[in-house]
Amino acid sequence: MKEELMKMLEKREDEMIEIRRYLHEHPELSFKEEKTAAYIADFYKGKDVEVETNVGNGYGIIVTIKGASEGKTIGLRADFDALPITEEAGVPFKSKKEGVMHACGHDAHTAYLLILADCLIQLKDQIKGTIKIIHQHAEEQPPGGAKSIMDTGKLDDVDAIFGIHILPLAPAGTVGYHSGYSFNGRTYFKLKIQGVGGHGSSPDKANDSIVAGAYFVTAVQTIVSRRVNPMEAGVVTIGSFDGKGTFNVIKDSIEIEGDIRYSNDQVQEVIDKEFKRIVKGLEGLFGVTCELTYTPDYPPLYNDPELTTLVADTLNGIQDKDIKEVKEFPKMAPSDDFAYYLEKIPGSYFYIGCTPKGVEEPYFNHHPKFDIDEDAILVAAKSVGYVACRYLDME
Ligand code: MN
Repeated sequence: MKEELMKMLEKREDEMIEIRRYLHEHPELSFKEEKTAAYIADFYKGKDVEVETNVGNGYGIIVTIKGASEGKTIGLRADFDALPITEEAGVPFKSKKEGVMHACGHDAHTAYLLILADCLIQLKDQIKGTIKIIHQHAEEQPPGGAKSIMDTGKLDDVDAIFGIHILPLAPAGTVGYHSGYSFNGRTYFKLKIQGVGGHGSSPDKANDSIVAGAYFVTAVQTIVSRRVNPMEAGVVTIGSFDGKGTFNVIKDSIEIEGDIRYSNDQVQEVIDKEFKRIVKGLEGLFGVTCELTYTPDYPPLYNDPELTTLVADTLNGIQDKDIKEVKEFPKMAPSDDFAYYLEKIPGSYFYIGCTPKGVEEPYFNHHPKFDIDEDAILVAAKSVGYVACRYLDME
């Protein structure tokens, strides 16, 4: 079956590119992807599959392809939201929406998965088991769409889940994988420190929130440097310190906001504990009152080692003119809500190289000039197709 599938995909490469360009011209922000979702649902109209729309906390779509014979259930996910960025890439199919851009490649993800799904629907008679196609909304904006889709229970019967992200870390034709923890988890925080305001000349009559805040900024630097295992990674960034006042007035309160990242659950636990302890200590040390908002959003992304080996072995073991190299990629600092699926379902999130031809230093995802080599779309379709065939034993 896989040879037949690959031939079908090759024949429909132009269509994948066409879909990608259409989506690229019509990007929509997270949780507002009404037209994108309608476009996707419309694609499946008249096809012999079950399509569920408005899944989760937004416009998520699940398409269930039931094979002719019994077998395992596999989930394949592609996200479809865009970013609040004004496009600066010089492409003829530039975003038609000012301030919104497919700068993370989710247009390409959706394009490959639509055509792959359609081919699989046509090959239904040869499929062993069930394939659940997950078109996911709102990856870019916490709380994201993935967790809410999981919470519906509609994926409870999925035995393994796979997804890809295109990344300009290698040319089209390269597939990357990483076993175990692969993307960082993330927490947002806001800390309000309430002291007592007063005259700049009389600190004894006040309680300076700026001094307490400055001390806090220094103290949290010791979390990563003194508490986190040096073989692992964590980040505590203060992104905003709102303490603007007047030169001769002691400021009564300030607000600090920031971003915390961690490469695995253990590091997250250490940072959570230390961070809260420092906040509590600040109250004792300075007599201020602290109000902390501490919101973990996407967890660290953990790729199942066995299924990641399945991806690597499957793609290494095939002869395919479009898949030229399969290699290990490094851990990534960003976060992705695919991690929520992987908390409950074993699977692997792997990477498709997409550096534009002839470009030495490509713009990375989320850059206003982000651009891809569209050859990567067929590579994505074939790679996920091979993995699905192997997992469901349809060689
Ligand atoms: Mn992305």
